[in-house]
Amino acid sequence: MSDGIGLAEALLGLDGFRVLDVSEGPAELVITVETVVAVVGCHHCGVRAESQDRVPIDIRELTCFGRPARLRWIKRRWRCGDVACDAKTWTETTSHVDAQAVLTRRAGAEACRQVGEEARAVSKVAAEMGVCWWTVMNAVIEHGTPLVDDPDRIGPVLQLGVDETNYLSATRTHPTIYATGLVDLQAKVVIDLVEGNAAADLRRWTAGADPGWIAGIEVVATDLAESFRAGLSPDLDHATRVADPFHVVRVANRCLDKVRRRVQNETLGHRGRKADPLYRIRKLLLAGDERLDDRGRDRLLLGLRVGDPHDEVLGGWLAKESVRDVYLTDDPVVAATLLDKAIAGCAADAVEEIRSLGKTPASWRSEILAHHDTGASNGPTEGLNLCVKRVKRCGHGFKRFEHYRLRVLLHAGGVTWPSRPRPPRIRSRSPHSNA
Ligand SMILES: [Zn+2]
Repeated sequence: MSDGIGLAEALLGLDGFRVLDVSEGPAELVITVETVVAVVGCHHCGVRAESQDRVPIDIRELTCFGRPARLRWIKRRWRCGDVACDAKTWTETTSHVDAQAVLTRRAGAEACRQVGEEARAVSKVAAEMGVCWWTVMNAVIEHGTPLVDDPDRIGPVLQLGVDETNYLSATRTHPTIYATGLVDLQAKVVIDLVEGNAAADLRRWTAGADPGWIAGIEVVATDLAESFRAGLSPDLDHATRVADPFHVVRVANRCLDKVRRRVQNETLGHRGRKADPLYRIRKLLLAGDERLDDRGRDRLLLGLRVGDPHDEVLGGWLAKESVRDVYLTDDPVVAATLLDKAIAGCAADAVEEIRSLGKTPASWRSEILAHHDTGASNGPTEGLNLCVKRVKRCGHGFKRFEHYRLRVLLHAGGVTWPSRPRPPRIRSRSPHSNA
């Protein structure tokens, strides 16, 4: 490959193609190519074909040394040598470019990797490559679907996490639409994403899964949603159910917030303002007691003394701490004692919000205590929710749930991307090392 064209072919790296010309436009590199075949038989009768004519088609390639590249393929059209043959004329094909495609296969695979693995916006990748949005999205669907459907993507799962995420925020035409994420809590990958957060949505998914795989699940962690509790039956009745600690504490935090806002309104006649004593300690109230330093505790007590005349917010704070206490121990027996104490304390409280708070842990008692036996929590799902949100943000709202699901699974679903050999590292040359 001592000639210039041989070098261009080496750079292009597409088997079976010959480079005819390389030219540079203002915004892109144009590489004109043809196939190297000379003799072709008719696919219909086998008679040697004759060249009919040439049709140039333009295809987008991977960027070349930082410049967008256009492949101008002078496609051959063949004609059967036998005039009586039905095949008449046909154009040649290659494994590198699909019929009617605007991207070469390797450019499509790269577009899919950037959108999936790196969670980049389809519009950005499309603009960079100089193709339209649908060209890139179709490449993501084509190259990404087999990766997501790969039966080896998800192995046996012992601990399943079920958690809801926002799919579409409410608009004038529809309420907030949720999606249910199913997560392998140990491998920390998203197994699947289901549209909706109703019991029926979850049940449909478990019913559709491989029964042998479902039978292997030992623990299921969920938030405190009755719909999920109902949706786990009947297919996951055999699994130990765990109420996620974060969500249990959040219920107590919300109760405390509710009391604080009501007392604020009753004592000052308006919603919290910056200088109001209760508003000023709203974050300290929600912090765990063990995380407060002396100064924080002093500020908390002062705020309560000034803003909470009937000790109702204090009651809410104590109730919240009593629920949090359940998680300060690893011992299941101690945890049960603490939880029962919290439930009884709430039930006996004079404040209505606190009595109501007590009903939730009472109803979820066995699920809450199962955390101490199994160690399972939805902590890993919360981390994955961040990944899901990253995909959502870059998508600027999705119109099709299938696209959303595909992109979340490509990004956080433990997909095995086709591996590329790692290039050997070229070390930086510091002037000192030459001395
Ligand atoms: Zn023929």
